[in-house]
Amino acid sequence: MNILITGAGRGLGLDLVAVALEHGHDVIAGVRDPARGQAALSALAAAYGDNLTVAALDVTDEAGIAALAASLKEQGRTLGVIINNAAVLNATDTPLEELDIAEMQLALDINLYGPMRVVKHFLPLLTEQKASIINISSEAGSITNAYPGSYPYTISKTALNMFSQKLHVTLKERGIHVLSVHPGWMPTDMGGSKAPTSPRTSAERILGLIEQRTAPEGHFRFVDYTGKDMEI
Ligand code: NDP
Repeated sequence: MNILITGAGRGLGLDLVAVALEHGHDVIAGVRDPARGQAALSALAAAYGDNLTVAALDVTDEAGIAALAASLKEQGRTLGVIINNAAVLNATDTPLEELDIAEMQLALDINLYGPMRVVKHFLPLLTEQKASIINISSEAGSITNAYPGSYPYTISKTALNMFSQKLHVTLKERGIHVLSVHPGWMPTDMGGSKAPTSPRTSAERILGLIEQRTAPEGHFRFVDYTGKDMEI
């Protein structure tokens, strides 16, 4: 399968690229700034050659996303999977009384509108059999388990879960599998050093969900990286 992954230069995104290549897939690794995070991707490119395409992909840049989709289409490329992984965690400890609404706009722009822009422009390329859209979400987006603070990130992930549900009801007739996936608390730049779940393990399990087309048992399209239903 051809797999497009956003935020692929570090963290979970980089492990998703490595695991997908190891599983024999072709990967389009979207990075915001191709000048950053290149050492790890360059090593993968040396090992996997044409199976890996590194592409500039800033999820806030709709014109750039459209241009990348057009260029891939022109090359006759198709997709089997879109993984919306890129995200930002900001203003976590800021009380509402002090919250600059620009922080909300930033989180929504990257964490919600980003995946929406990507799906908008890449959906026409998602023509391979057993296609999937994976939106990397978070337990932080659960309404049931809402906690104080962190307005921008948590609300953006709740909305992302709604986007996944909307895509599911819209695309199920076309056989496109849609999931919001909580990847676990991982020791990445975002998760910090104390986090218990290796991003490598999470990436392997997420690839498993894609390859086995695991469907949630519950009503909502929100699972953790092991496939267990999450509370909306
Ligand atoms: P990191 O902070 O380590 O990496 C974030 C990635 O997103 C980077 O590759 C970054 O690129 C990219 N990114 C940010 N903004 C943009 C943008 N505008 N356009 C394109 N790429 C962008 O995060 P993680 O790897 O930890 O997180 C991956 C996913 O997992 C996220 O969706 C996150 O919300 C989710 N998650 C993570 C948890 C954790 O414990 N780490 C827990 C629950 C969910 P750049 O290098 O250019 O900044």
